[in-house]
Amino acid sequence: MEFRVGNGYDVHLLAEGLPLWLGGIRIEHTKGCVAHSDGDVLIHALCDALLGALAMGDIGKHFPDTSAEFKGIDSKILLERTYSMVKERGYKLVNADCTLLLQRPKVAPYINLMRETLASVMGVEVGRVSVKATTTEGAGFVGREEGVAVYATVLLQG
Ligand code: MG
Repeated sequence: MEFRVGNGYDVHLLAEGLPLWLGGIRIEHTKGCVAHSDGDVLIHALCDALLGALAMGDIGKHFPDTSAEFKGIDSKILLERTYSMVKERGYKLVNADCTLLLQRPKVAPYINLMRETLASVMGVEVGRVSVKATTTEGAGFVGREEGVAVYATVLLQG
């Protein structure tokens, strides 16, 4: 048995009038993430953590933002494909822990739905997936509501 740990980090800029997708769900807000895909920064960080754990590169290598195939794509599809690669290599998720940095809106009411959504896309128990959120107390690009950042950590067992 072998354990592998991975970390992922992603940032997207926010712009008025775009849909805001976080953790696989649509959140009511006046701004959304600027992106080639649906801009789900939480899923992107999680994918990078899963890929990083097995030294498989990053999300940009597997799903290039220059490809028309991924234009506007639902990031849940990227997560499903990423976790399939993990399983193909004989590994499974022990747990994932994601920290979302955004100033607004309050996402506490959505956290459990995000966890359930991410767990269901990967086909794992919801208890294996943690999502936490914090503001930056108004500091920096997150605090100025210019962008959203996510840190993700995963442990895999093979
Ligand atoms: Mg991204």
